[in-house]
Amino acid sequence: MSECLFCSIAAGEIPSSKVYEDDVCFAFNDIAPQAPTHFLVIPKAHIGSVSEVTADNSGVVAHIFEVISKLAKEQGLESYRIVSNIGEQAGQSVFHLHFHVLSGRDMTWPPG
Ligand code: 5GP
Ligand code: ZN
Repeated sequence: MSECLFCSIAAGEIPSSKVYEDDVCFAFNDIAPQAPTHFLVIPKAHIGSVSEVTADNSGVVAHIFEVISKLAKEQGLESYRIVSNIGEQAGQSVFHLHFHVLSGRDMTWPPG
């Protein structure tokens, strides 16, 4: 099993509530939802965070945003927020790139 939690989830080695999967990315419900809809979208290949996105792998990020747009339409989400925390001070706790998709409640700005 991978030492990375989200690599293990993407590989199906650790169970999750799957929302979507293709060759490039995997989407699953957050174990501690912060909104009525709260799922995570991750690349299958390990990338630590946005800070490791380069010209060589940025296509994966474009693909993930395409998938989020599609899933949001399918789920009828009219208003939603995409969050990616980079580094501990910003709240990152799992060091495998992930995009939170949150919806279904009022949200404040700026976030705390
Ligand atoms: P971060 O804090 O890095 O921005 O987001 C990590 C997210 O992963 C958190 O919202 C946390 O609830 C979620 N998470 C942590 N461990 C697991 C797990 O084992 N399964 C699922 N589905 N979500 C997890
Ligand atoms: Zn990983």
